[in-house]
Amino acid sequence: TTTIALFTRDLRVRDNPMLAAAARGADYVMPLFVRDRRISAAFGRGKARFVDESLADLDEGLRRIGGRLVVCDGDPAEEVCRIAEGARVERVHVAGDVSAFATARQERLRAALGRRLWVHHDVHSVVPPGEVVPEGKDHFAVFSAYYRRWLEVRWREAVPAPRRISLPQGVRSGPVPRVTGDGGETAGRHRASAWLAAGVRDYADQHDALAAYSTSRLSPHLHLGCVSALELARSAGQSAGARAFIRQLAWRDFYQQVLAARPDAARRDYRPHGDRWRDDRGALRAWQEGRTGIPIVDAGMRQLLAEGWMHNRARLIVGSFLTKTLYLDWRAGAAHFFAHLLDGDVANNCLNWQWVAGTGTDTRPNRVLNPLRQAERYDSDGDYVRRYVPELAHLPAERIHQPWRLPARERRGYPAPIVDLAGARTRFLAARAH
Ligand code: FAD
Repeated sequence: TTTIALFTRDLRVRDNPMLAAAARGADYVMPLFVRDRRISAAFGRGKARFVDESLADLDEGLRRIGGRLVVCDGDPAEEVCRIAEGARVERVHVAGDVSAFATARQERLRAALGRRLWVHHDVHSVVPPGEVVPEGKDHFAVFSAYYRRWLEVRWREAVPAPRRISLPQGVRSGPVPRVTGDGGETAGRHRASAWLAAGVRDYADQHDALAAYSTSRLSPHLHLGCVSALELARSAGQSAGARAFIRQLAWRDFYQQVLAARPDAARRDYRPHGDRWRDDRGALRAWQEGRTGIPIVDAGMRQLLAEGWMHNRARLIVGSFLTKTLYLDWRAGAAHFFAHLLDGDVANNCLNWQWVAGTGTDTRPNRVLNPLRQAERYDSDGDYVRRYVPELAHLPAERIHQPWRLPARERRGYPAPIVDLAGARTRFLAARAH
């Protein structure tokens, strides 16, 4: 028999149940990646590069077991059908996914391929969407309740890479990128082993410290499936740090099961509060460019532009600032994040934004983070601001977070705040009270 292993965002050979199933008992396997311009057109330069690095590494990984990656451009449903007809393919394997876009693609494939399509649902998460559900409902809306049940689930075993695969004869492929860097399974596994060997130990106490490099930074690899969340959870161990880290992987599963049940939550409020978000292009631009005049907010936004990544605590601060202080629509924030994040992910991005905006699964939707208190707590010596806001780098810890109190020459061109924090908080709470 001949099968197609259709890669989407599961760019790895190890612990990939989709690839393992495609290889099981097959004479020939065609590992296929279809570049869909509707997706890649939205990538920033950093993400496009990360994807290329991951594809190059996947190709290497497949070559080690006798195959290689076949790449083509177009609409995956159409391309797969075309190839499946030409190569007499009996089965097409693809990982299940939860976004509206992925589900629609799956449905089109199913319509075209019928029983030849084989969807595997358990590639992305530790506990697949739908595996734990509350009585009489299709998903958990509160994390703590979800997490209690999640912890009781027996995780599946990790699956090894296929020992050997053979390509069907006469397969033609478009060019596979030849770039190396941080992206891909090899680099992701190195990062994961280093993290589990040393970093994770202090995670429980340190993960909120903005300037410390005290989180795994595995989110881009997890998003593209270069590393397996299940394997990470299985090998993390039992220390307090490991347990706190595994809990974050449960957050990831939590949002996937929310999106699986409510795919419209990528765009529409999960729990509407009747917000009439303001329309203020100038404020939005200042936020995007890291020029709001609130140093802790600007540091986060500039980290995003510089690195394609932002610390989770900073994401919470800048998110609360956009939606509750500036009172601008969370969708504008999510779109900007998508354009710049390497880990930009429909479930994690949109549902974390909704959590921050108080339209999602936060059980205290009206809490407003005070950026000054956050800065004192999570950047008490000012190093995070110093790293990303060089205009203020000369200031000592006790002055760096409130430069508007200083004479203009000490601010070195850094802008005045675009908003009055206390007044904005009152405006938000008054709006929510109606
Ligand atoms: P670690 O602290 O090492 O955590 C390990 C992994 O757990 C992460 O890689 C991630 O996969 C998962 N995780 C951690 N925190 C969360 C969380 N709150 N929700 C869901 N999963 C989590 N994460 C994304 O992967 N993609 C996004 O597009 C994204 N957008 C976000 C937008 C906002 C407004 C907020 C507040 C958070 C967002 N997050 C997103 C969640 C979180 O900020 C990142 O996953 C985390 O900062 C990545 O860094 P890390 O890999 O070092 O995380």
